[in-house]
Amino acid sequence: MVQISQLPVDPGPAAWNELLEPEPARPVLATSTTADWLVIGAGFAGLSAARRLAELHPTDRITVLDACRIADGPSGRNSGFMIDVPHDLSSHDYGGNAENDYRQIRLNRAAIDYAMQAKEQWQMSDEAIVKSGKINGAITARGVAHNKAYATHLQQLHEPYERIDAQGMQQVTGASCYVEGLYSPGTVMLQPALYTRNLANGIESSRLQIYESSPVISLQQQGAAWIAKTPQGSVSAPKTILTVNGHLESFGYYPQHLVHVFTYGSMTRSLSSKEVKTLGGESQWALTPADPLGTTVRRLSGTGGHRIVIRNRATYDPSLSVSDERVDQVGHDHDRSFHYRFPMLKGVVMEHRWGGRLCLSRNSVSVFEEVETNLFAACCQNGLGTAKGTISGKLIAEYASGQQSALLDDQLADTGPFKLPPAPVASIGAAIRLKWGEFRAGKEL
Ligand SMILES: Cc1cc2nc3c(=O)[nH]c(=O)nc-3n(C[C@H](O)[C@H](O)[C@H](O)COP(=O)(O)OP(=O)(O)OC[C@H]3O[C@@H](n4cnc5c(N)ncnc54)[C@H](O)[C@@H]3O)c2cc1C
Repeated sequence: MVQISQLPVDPGPAAWNELLEPEPARPVLATSTTADWLVIGAGFAGLSAARRLAELHPTDRITVLDACRIADGPSGRNSGFMIDVPHDLSSHDYGGNAENDYRQIRLNRAAIDYAMQAKEQWQMSDEAIVKSGKINGAITARGVAHNKAYATHLQQLHEPYERIDAQGMQQVTGASCYVEGLYSPGTVMLQPALYTRNLANGIESSRLQIYESSPVISLQQQGAAWIAKTPQGSVSAPKTILTVNGHLESFGYYPQHLVHVFTYGSMTRSLSSKEVKTLGGESQWALTPADPLGTTVRRLSGTGGHRIVIRNRATYDPSLSVSDERVDQVGHDHDRSFHYRFPMLKGVVMEHRWGGRLCLSRNSVSVFEEVETNLFAACCQNGLGTAKGTISGKLIAEYASGQQSALLDDQLADTGPFKLPPAPVASIGAAIRLKWGEFRAGKEL
């Protein structure tokens, strides 16, 4: 029997979820029950796995367990970029090797197709999910050089892009600090909490039950079944899928292989109409930094009013938790990044600040396999879980159902994460790498 060593803790509010009307809580698992399939973790990967299982096995009973409320975990607290083209966060300019990039593009586009089908199937709004593209914004000469290298890479992959000059960047963002942008059209933007909620509501049925606030505290194989215990109940199922991202390690798998990183967000209060006018620019846009360790910025207008969302800083936290003080400290960096970009919004303060987990691997690959007989895992999304989680969740359901396909071969080509050096070396190495990268990002941060 595996006792789960650590349960997820999400620092700060899930700001995107706070913008929406509260939903009634789903039930907490409080009985001993059986199912044909058990999915543990209800983020992008878990909800996609459950959705695909329901499509493939319409008469089977599927149970989904999550430790927290839907959209309160990382799937509801990210920046919402579902990116189709290569976006390797560990590289200096997002590019990787071409063969791997083609494979990744096929997987990302399949994720986007699956998410857009969900939009159509459950009539989600454009606010929840829309194909709008994204801009890589550059502020410094170094950022411009990153964009140039990335543009060359996109050209080699025959992927479209457009360059935007400083004036064009100001027309879009209202900010005068961006000297150049690189627009790529295929990115889909999510209001992550709204999309996640819509997806959970869409897939639920009399045969597919989601339990919230029901953390799995032990997992054991007994005969032909996997039994997952929660504080008040248990589920017994012949086949179980783990979609818990970095918490795979808490289930005893891949110790010393997963790189646990937190990144942080801040969201302004709603801007007044005068502030919206002073800011200028378009009412919605989405900008990733030219330097992967720079600042992601989004301008929103929709439920919750007009707001700006900032994401930056990354900290290596193998303990899988960070303090509220850390979130506050990083908040100072967010304020600096915000006021540098938007000096015209002097009196605007952040209403929400939060942190969230990423799970990376040294070689930027995920865990996608049958970790034990009839226990499957689709985890370690390398900071790109909107797309990677969606597609690996769908494909793990197909894999566990004995299906074969070319796309599944693409996913199975990930060879598994490399082992990390011993703990102190890994900690010091990762911390130095992140700090140095952030230092070099300069004003891009
Ligand atoms: C601030 C921020 C910005 C980001 N921006 C982007 C972005 O723009 N684009 C992008 O692609 N990615 C982004 N990410 C990363 C993205 O959020 C993750 O990669 C994604 O959420 C991973 O999806 P997942 O379904 O694999 O895992 P998760 O979303 O982490 O879901 C796993 C679920 O498992 C549950 N769980 C864990 N342990 C247990 C247990 N014992 N019992 C029951 N349930 C358990 C957790 O509660 C959680 O809900 C960002 C992350 C952060 C924090």
